[in-house]
Amino acid sequence: MHHTDTIVLRSVEEARDEILRHVRAGASEAVPLLAALGRVVAQDVRADIDVPPFANSAMDGYAVRGAEIDSASLTNPVVLQIIAEVPAGGMTEVPVAPGTAVRIMTGAPMPPQADTVVPFEETDEGRPESLHTQGQVRVYKAVPTGASVRAAGEDVQAGTVVVPRGTLVRAAEIGVLATVGAATVEVYRRPKVAILATGDELVDVDEQPAAGQIRNANGYANAAQVLAAGGEPLQLPIARDTEAELMTRLDEGLRWGADLFLTSGGVSVGDYDVVKKVLLSRGEMEFWRVKMKPGKPVAFGIIDGVPLLGLPGNPVSAMVGFELFGRPALLKMQGREGWARPVIQATFTGRLTDRADRRQYVRVRVEQRAEEWLAHLTGEQGSGVLTSMMHADGLMIVPEGMTEVEPGNVLPVLMLHWPELPSDQSYTAAEAGLDCC
Ligand code: AMP
Ligand code: MG
Repeated sequence: MHHTDTIVLRSVEEARDEILRHVRAGASEAVPLLAALGRVVAQDVRADIDVPPFANSAMDGYAVRGAEIDSASLTNPVVLQIIAEVPAGGMTEVPVAPGTAVRIMTGAPMPPQADTVVPFEETDEGRPESLHTQGQVRVYKAVPTGASVRAAGEDVQAGTVVVPRGTLVRAAEIGVLATVGAATVEVYRRPKVAILATGDELVDVDEQPAAGQIRNANGYANAAQVLAAGGEPLQLPIARDTEAELMTRLDEGLRWGADLFLTSGGVSVGDYDVVKKVLLSRGEMEFWRVKMKPGKPVAFGIIDGVPLLGLPGNPVSAMVGFELFGRPALLKMQGREGWARPVIQATFTGRLTDRADRRQYVRVRVEQRAEEWLAHLTGEQGSGVLTSMMHADGLMIVPEGMTEVEPGNVLPVLMLHWPELPSDQSYTAAEAGLDCC
């Protein structure tokens, strides 16, 4: 990146790649097991024991010597002497000698010399003809040797890496980590994101806007997006459009230890002068016009060593800009390898006309119909209409140059509330029939 004050035209992909090149996974921290949910493991986790730790029964039944029941059938059952009973959590040292069986419950350790479990259902257990009172059991089926036995280490072997570094921790990983005794887990730190809304017209949520003023929506929406993406947001006080105030706010963010700055407003052609001046004097910044709608003006650069993403002021643009540029960066900073949201193909039900030669991200609500998804407009698409974002499940991607979108057109929809898969190998926009998104 070089110091420039010209406005550079970028595609969404170019802008995102440039941003991703400038961020990397940070330090890690140890957290209690359950707090690792949604985080990325920063250090290989090895199994301290075999899982399961001992051979055990997969069924309620009888532990037997498999070779002895090879001839068992309904008409010609094998009769065995019951020598012991073992529940889960129990233990029997009594060996299963020829002609004997141990009554065993699911999860109980296999007794010595038994290699097979015959489920109750394949014996006279509980049936009128049961020999239970005589301490015997009839086996009605020649279940194969080894059946219904879970071998020690069948799932995980002691010493092996069971959850590698880079793994996104979901519920199943939590379970596996519990199994191998990982009471705490080393995960990548949550990036600290300092959020700075700029604008002389802004007042805070608990204030009554005077004439010409509006409430600061972006600071809150962006903070919520940061939280949802696993970051730790700090909302700096609103910055008035003066150099001095912007400088002060940036310093506050730096003192707090921000890993990323997220600003909104002040980067559009009309009024970016102050923000631009400050950003240029403090760091290496580029001002982009990204070929997208909404959210054309975007700034990106490094301020005192900290990356800064400057989003447009219009609330929808600020949110879409975060979704396309901020979120992938935050995920990468947490060690995530996948940042692409799932993309579905949907049939548009509305009509759009646009002269813009930019890719459009259109707010839609999707609905599943038999074999297809439908995409409905959520309303007025002005970049200030934040309620249409509220009702959106996804952003329908209208390619550059497509000026008319009609009912029946099938287009990709980037799903805003569906989690991205852990790795980009899994479900990428390219596979969904897009060369981009
Ligand atoms: P700007 O990019 O600063 O020119 O702002 C573009 C539009 O977004 C203007 O209508 C601003 O009033 C509005 N805007 C800027 N910042 C915010 C904010 N934090 N919350 C709500 N609207 C904003
Ligand atoms: Mg402004």
